[in-house]
Amino acid sequence: MRLSQMLFVTLREDPAEAEIPSHKLLLRAGYIRRIGSGIYIYLPLMWRVLQKVSQIVREEMDVVKAQECLLPQLQPADLWRESGRWEAYTKVEGIMFSLNDRRQTQLGLGPTHEEVITALAKDMIYSYRQLPVNLYQIQTKFRDEIRPRFGLMRGREFIMKDAYSFHTSSENLQKTYEAMEQAYRNIICRCGLAFRAVQADSGAIGGSASQEFMILAESGEDQIFYTKDGKYAANAEKAVSLPCDPDQSPFTKLEKLETPATDTIEKLCKFLKCSPTVVVKNVLYEILYDSGKTVMVLISIRGDHDVNEVKLKNELAIFSPQYQGSKVLDVKTSNKISQQKWAIKPLPLGYIGPDIEDDYIRHDKDYAPKFLRIVDKTVVELKNFITGANEDGYHTTGANWNQDFQLPKLVVDVKTVMIGDRAVHDPKQTLETAKGIEVGHIFQLGTKYSQAMGATFTNEIGEEQPLVMGCYGLGVSRLAQAAVEQSYDKNGIVWPVTIAPYHVIIIIPNINDLKQVEAAEKLYNKLNQSGVETLLDDRDERAGVKFKDADLIGIPYRVVTGRSLKSDKVEVVERGSKHSQEIPIEKIVVTLKQWVTEMGVQLQEGTK
Ligand code: ATP
Ligand code: MG
Repeated sequence: MRLSQMLFVTLREDPAEAEIPSHKLLLRAGYIRRIGSGIYIYLPLMWRVLQKVSQIVREEMDVVKAQECLLPQLQPADLWRESGRWEAYTKVEGIMFSLNDRRQTQLGLGPTHEEVITALAKDMIYSYRQLPVNLYQIQTKFRDEIRPRFGLMRGREFIMKDAYSFHTSSENLQKTYEAMEQAYRNIICRCGLAFRAVQADSGAIGGSASQEFMILAESGEDQIFYTKDGKYAANAEKAVSLPCDPDQSPFTKLEKLETPATDTIEKLCKFLKCSPTVVVKNVLYEILYDSGKTVMVLISIRGDHDVNEVKLKNELAIFSPQYQGSKVLDVKTSNKISQQKWAIKPLPLGYIGPDIEDDYIRHDKDYAPKFLRIVDKTVVELKNFITGANEDGYHTTGANWNQDFQLPKLVVDVKTVMIGDRAVHDPKQTLETAKGIEVGHIFQLGTKYSQAMGATFTNEIGEEQPLVMGCYGLGVSRLAQAAVEQSYDKNGIVWPVTIAPYHVIIIIPNINDLKQVEAAEKLYNKLNQSGVETLLDDRDERAGVKFKDADLIGIPYRVVTGRSLKSDKVEVVERGSKHSQEIPIEKIVVTLKQWVTEMGVQLQEGTK
């Protein structure tokens, strides 16, 4: 492609709308343009990058025998009602765009495609002989994100590769899941990115085992915990650890002490000169089940730890039947304002004990009449601990479970993991942390959707059973931007060769110099014919402008038909290392072909 014929506009200044480097650079270098909140145009250069990522995805999906198809974006609401997700996706989480057609039939724009694919499986799969099947698509997804930001990282319209597999048993699912995990590793490696695969929470999609693929980058929105031995890595929402040992409590006898103005752990520990590891703090949450019942949950956790709301939500799901529901809709910390609704008298905030009485709760059909009391594992072994005395300005010290307070039966792990915690698999290892961008998420779904939607098959002995499912998402557009986030310098983008929009850019420093033009044109044709994808900067611009633009758009190799032509050579500069050398013209095609293939690119001759 000739730059003179391209819609090519670069910006010298950082656009105000962009916060992180990759977003700024993609805007400045003319890869994307914003058209609305979380809505972007992929300009020709970006589209080439996305096609390259998609091609790598397709090749790796071929290896695991997944078949490509294309599912509709416009999805009937009834399908989502069958799976039970319409309400949650359009109202509570509100992630799904919904609309009515001219007949007032409700539809949604696909944020994900489990419903559509399960309906297809229900329709077409009837026998174990047809299994396993693995289908995928590369498709635009729509999500009404609360905070669209960082360009393509969190868009409201973005490109995802999503695959869905169907099996006769969870053992068979396991095999495909492992093959898909390997495919994901291959895809991300081939795109030239540093990543970590981590254990993850399954979120609203549901199911059991799941893993996320995190691109390591400072601007990442996800926090990962891992151990240096490489044996453990998990998303913060899922991570577990052993807490550090508690200190010795300075209090040995049970006492109610006046502790004025100590409504935070920090103030309390300062006042009592004790470690937060000997404090039992009691945190109140309001949990809304889908039955409409709100349950007040009191969690006792060690003073040096916080509650992880995702873990809490997962733990509380099992109580749904007890509150006439099937799942938890919302988890929120109880604050002064919301307490005005459910508490009949002011709570001693900051001084609550594990035994606070149930008569604080208003008698109302929407509220469970009693606190659901649970303890985090961190407090079970504590001796002579300090905790609230249920009275403003007072704490109980030197307390012990089952002597002074009943230890609640429900012991869970809902603590937020912290850097330096000991690892569960090996207490000698401590947890380290890193920031990551989630580019992929794979799940063993099991029978959640097939059961809800009645997608069954007949097994070898003639029994009808629900299909066992896996699902596998990969953010194609997010991955492309994450590549920039991991690879840039002060002059611009440094694309990994495998996903760069072009491999080479030829710069003619002076287009009025016929010799320069002639040499460049020849090389341009030859390189493209041999499969090395080449851009030609034949614009009538100053050489300096061209060099700046070439650096900004990040093409891996720059060829300059300048002064060295005198000795039948051209200058070749590698974008990443800035290493420059003069290479005889007749060797250019062979050399660049070799460099590009060494980086893992399979050249297709005759491309332009
Ligand atoms: P996140 O936690 O970042 O919102 P998610 O858990 O909602 O992601 P999935 O539903 O698992 O994501 O979707 C699969 C993949 O699609 C993600 O791993 C991510 O790469 C990509 N993705 C999800 N939401 C967006 C978005 N708003 N913009 C761009 N890519 C996205
Ligand atoms: Mg999301």
